[in-house]
Amino acid sequence: MTNTLSHRQQLFYNHLAQTSDFPLALDIERAEGIYLYGQNGQRYIDMISGIAVSNVGHRHPKVLEAIHDQLDKYMHLMVYGEYIETPQVKLAEALVKTINLESLQDFPSLDNVYFTNSGTEAVEGAMKLAKRFTGRSEIISCFNAYHGSTQGALSLAGAEFFKRSFRPLLPDVRHIRHGVLEDLDKITTRTAAVIIEVISGEAGVRVPTEAYHQALRKRCDETGTLLIFDEIQTGFGRTGSFWAFEHYNVVPDVLLCAKGMGGGMPIGAFIASKEIMSVFKNNPILGHITTFGGHPVSCAASLATLEVVQDILYGTRGNGETEELSVGEKGDLIKRLLIHPKIKEIRGRGLMLAVEFVSFDVLKPIIDRAIQNSQSGGGVITDWFLFCDNSMRLAPPLVISEAQIREACAIILEAID
Ligand code: PMP
Repeated sequence: MTNTLSHRQQLFYNHLAQTSDFPLALDIERAEGIYLYGQNGQRYIDMISGIAVSNVGHRHPKVLEAIHDQLDKYMHLMVYGEYIETPQVKLAEALVKTINLESLQDFPSLDNVYFTNSGTEAVEGAMKLAKRFTGRSEIISCFNAYHGSTQGALSLAGAEFFKRSFRPLLPDVRHIRHGVLEDLDKITTRTAAVIIEVISGEAGVRVPTEAYHQALRKRCDETGTLLIFDEIQTGFGRTGSFWAFEHYNVVPDVLLCAKGMGGGMPIGAFIASKEIMSVFKNNPILGHITTFGGHPVSCAASLATLEVVQDILYGTRGNGETEELSVGEKGDLIKRLLIHPKIKEIRGRGLMLAVEFVSFDVLKPIIDRAIQNSQSGGGVITDWFLFCDNSMRLAPPLVISEAQIREACAIILEAID
């Protein structure tokens, strides 16, 4: 490393494992609400929420309070599932209530929660659950999907580029095109599960029709296949309803969540009916175990997060003011503000958006200029997608205000010009 790097930068490059040669390497001192603050006081607007995590903003006071309260009681007590830990049982009850809505009564009841540490672990658990419950091995996921980086979840990734060097991975994984009705025929009585995002994230935010998800549900019912919705990005209010499946009037057999669920703390879950989940109890006993899954401090943070998200969606918008725009209206405002000849299309729902440019070569300098703008005290952090590098990722905290949206969009437009 050259001498021009600060001491912290040298430590970062020398001692932290790098996964690319061009990390953003922003040096952040603190974060609050929608803002990250650099070591020299630069203020960045976080328009990606740490990749769909900080839905309630950074360091939401209610989340901090819940964490402090739990720290005063206990942290880790025992491996998962042995003791009755109040934060876990309260969170499980609250999660189950968000899913089993009266309007969706005809669907499977998802009343049993298995807590994990991360999204990819939720995916792993759900795959094991589906294989064990159905006695089948084939799993279907979508081209251009991302479900995690552990070897099982990586097997589902819909791009050979990411998998080639790590083979052999899981056998018996097949892919279909997201949102394409004709491909549903590939789901058969051999298929244990279909794992799919309701709105696909890393493919560049693709929003399928209601007819698609209804037909997918029907095909899974016909073939005895478990339908697993990965709501790791779309859940916890991101698309304007608590879960994205609510837009489609379809409920899965297994629901996955993580990311925004912890309000900034690490936690994930897979949720199913008690009947399905009970297969982990025998043959073998302890069919899925974890030491830290459902950490009490993460569960306490998550319950507070859940309540704040509900408040944002259905209550006082999380900041005590009732005048604020809804999540859907905030997304619509961004779509109206970001009009420019270089923008080909804006896709998405709620505050999960993709702004399409003609190519990565056009987009990348725009992203860089928007962040660099922070030298003048007002930079904006955006990103692109794993499988769609001509589109800008926009997924700001749901608590972003109308004025903050206007400011962020003005900086993005300036960066485009
Ligand atoms: N599923 C989806 C849809 C995701 O977006 C991600 C993370 N980007 C994961 C699973 C994996 O989650 P984690 O990084 O917490 O393992």
